[in-house]
Amino acid sequence: MEIFVILALVLAVILIIGYPLVNPARYRDLIERGRTSARYNDLCDARENIFEALRDLQFEYATGKLSTADYQQLDARYQTQAADVLRQIDALQAQTQNARGRRDCPRCHAAASASDKFCAQCGAKI
Ligand SMILES: [Zn+2]
Repeated sequence: MEIFVILALVLAVILIIGYPLVNPARYRDLIERGRTSARYNDLCDARENIFEALRDLQFEYATGKLSTADYQQLDARYQTQAADVLRQIDALQAQTQNARGRRDCPRCHAAASASDKFCAQCGAKI
């Protein structure tokens, strides 16, 4: 008889401790955060690449390797791409803030105060 009581107690302890580990809501949240984070990092990479392309373009134009017509065409293309990526970053940041009802770092999800411009944990722009 005692063995059944002990087994019941052990089972109860395992269920109580184990439930948070198998709670699907926890994983949905973690997966969503991972997706948001990966998308944010991809957009930041894209932004840096476009800015670098713009710097290279200006350098090549300044050194006379590009005609004015080519420069203007490529400059307009990169400016459009940059504006598009910046809009997507802003939208993602707004979405992250709205989803939680407070300000979080879009990269590492550390909590931030309303006046913070950059994350205290990772330095990302908030
Ligand atoms: Zn951060």
